[in-house]
Amino acid sequence: MNSEAYSTEEFEAKYTYSGNDLGATWSPDATAFRVWAPTARAVKVRLYRGGTAGVDDLLEQVDMTADVCGTWVARKSGDLNGVYYTYLVDLGSAVNEACDPYARTTGVNGQRAMVIDLASTNPKNWHKDADPHAGQDFTDAVIYELHVRDLSCDESAGIRDKGKFLGLIQRGTTNGSGIPTGLDHMKALGITHLHLLPSYDYGSVDEAHPEANQFNWGYDPLNFNVPEGSYATDPFHGEVRVREMKQMVKGLHDNGISVVMDVVYNHVYDGGSFCFNRIVPQYFSRVDGSGTYSNGSGCGNDTASERSMVRKYIVDSVKYWADEYHIDGFRFDLVGLLDVQTINAIMEEVRKTHPNVVFYGEGWDMSTRVTKPNIPMAIQANSPMTPGFAYFNDTLRDLLRGTVFDDRAPGFVSGAAGYEDTLRQCFLGLPHWCKSPAQTVNYGSCHDNMALFDRIVVSTPNATRAEQIRMNNLSAAICMTCQGIPFMQAGEEMLRSKPRADGSFEHNSYCSPDSVNSLKWDCLNGQEYRDVLAYYQGLIAFRKAHKALRMTTAEEVSANIRCIPGSTPGLVEFLISGSDIAGEPSEALYVAFNAGREARQLQLPEGKWEVCVNERQAGTKALATVEGSVTVAPISALVLTKERPDTDGKKVKLVGAMLGGVAAAAVTIGGTVAAIKRKHK
Ligand code: CA
Repeated sequence: MNSEAYSTEEFEAKYTYSGNDLGATWSPDATAFRVWAPTARAVKVRLYRGGTAGVDDLLEQVDMTADVCGTWVARKSGDLNGVYYTYLVDLGSAVNEACDPYARTTGVNGQRAMVIDLASTNPKNWHKDADPHAGQDFTDAVIYELHVRDLSCDESAGIRDKGKFLGLIQRGTTNGSGIPTGLDHMKALGITHLHLLPSYDYGSVDEAHPEANQFNWGYDPLNFNVPEGSYATDPFHGEVRVREMKQMVKGLHDNGISVVMDVVYNHVYDGGSFCFNRIVPQYFSRVDGSGTYSNGSGCGNDTASERSMVRKYIVDSVKYWADEYHIDGFRFDLVGLLDVQTINAIMEEVRKTHPNVVFYGEGWDMSTRVTKPNIPMAIQANSPMTPGFAYFNDTLRDLLRGTVFDDRAPGFVSGAAGYEDTLRQCFLGLPHWCKSPAQTVNYGSCHDNMALFDRIVVSTPNATRAEQIRMNNLSAAICMTCQGIPFMQAGEEMLRSKPRADGSFEHNSYCSPDSVNSLKWDCLNGQEYRDVLAYYQGLIAFRKAHKALRMTTAEEVSANIRCIPGSTPGLVEFLISGSDIAGEPSEALYVAFNAGREARQLQLPEGKWEVCVNERQAGTKALATVEGSVTVAPISALVLTKERPDTDGKKVKLVGAMLGGVAAAAVTIGGTVAAIKRKHK
């Protein structure tokens, strides 16, 4: 069948199945199978003793019966928990054996699905497990992006289950000098959400040889509903990866950390061999009339999210991770390749039962061959069409450290002029493409491109190391005080670096070895690194203590934040009125960022101000009290607070008086077109 026909109304009307029983549904007495294969002439279920493809251990082949909406069904009596299976699909032109797209787990390397009694994999008290940040606003989150291997693989981590899900939840680990590592480190840092790079089953690592210490980011999906086998202590028995990933989620929740999963629905490892496309040829992917795959992803294929059964598949998959694994958030890779309707359908469905799940993604505008005309994609510019879904703010990233297209270009923190107005927009949580601070994810580093400190080093050859560290900390202070959702790559808080053997720095470490990618905990033996870590801890604590940094609407922002007029290059200042827990205006914040090499004198609004963040320290305690004017040191942030208790010890409103004397600065709306990045593969 020509793939163009899949997108006709006739096909969709006839073959859209809406039931929730696709895949293998286990019970102690029997297992029911249902697969969507509308173009097949016949389908069988092949039952195997083991999970390794190519091993001759077929138990039985069961004929399936054509059922409603292009689905096929079979029922096998007995307890099939632990039995592996595939579908054998007769398409007339070919007979394909395929893993089940709805597989709940698989054998090694994801070629055979396994029937599983999911309840038997639940950790103790799983029914009581919940998102530790339920009920909070998305802007209250502090997101920490981590690859599963990176936390534990270096010897200095002192962690037992190196490179495994379980390595993320070991308590009491230290480096050789007794300094906390791993989970204890993340907890002490104060993050709210741990964002894990792809942790579903991907194809680029051979799970059969874990001793080879292979590394890959995992942006090459194989089985979307199955944990990655190389992160389990045993990749050969399908129940182990399920059990251990649930243990990881539970362990993180028990330590106050919510879990976000990086999901890569926009493409698959290989379009031709992806199980869905082996069952319904080219249905899952965008292809042209001659069968050529669209390649906006740069990874060889783009997912046809606009087709009804692909949309259903993605919605079902996200909901499954939220339901079965208690995942608290989803980061969508290259979400600009998925259509707006699919993203909204996902959020609507998941939030019916998980109202606090967070959603964000890379909304770059990429060229892709959509199967129907005029379908809006989930790109930054369409953010008003996806309320509740946030987008990575590359406008801020590029202004902080310099354009992504030139590793040697400096940004605001590294001394480049001309970014002041764009920074003012970003501080308000309203970059030119965004209408709500709850839709912008603010960051100075992520897994892509150079680590922040490497980038600063490369782009400031004439700066001292002390100055470069100040640039790093200024970037962090901006990210942690901007309106929006702060996000950072793991290790940024200890000057993470990805050095190559030749002394240069890796800017695409997707398949670099652990020696490049892993966190190096021994760096914390040095005072310089411990000082940076303490600064990040202080910034996070300060952000958590001030709701005024975490507004949720543009209206709140415009009512409470003023950009202080000024034309000094490298200097921007803001005055924020804040609210207490009851929502009453109760305090004011004065925030200044000075990227210049000179100290600057600032005139403060009347009253006594407490310094909480300066060039050396950050936190919730006052470092000094100032009045009238104050000096902001070179290459640093300065954050001041002001509260005024009345005679009863309660805070009094001072917003009107505070803001009355300060004119709002005009914020230029403009900026650059979102950068389209090419990554991995
Ligand atoms: Ca795998």
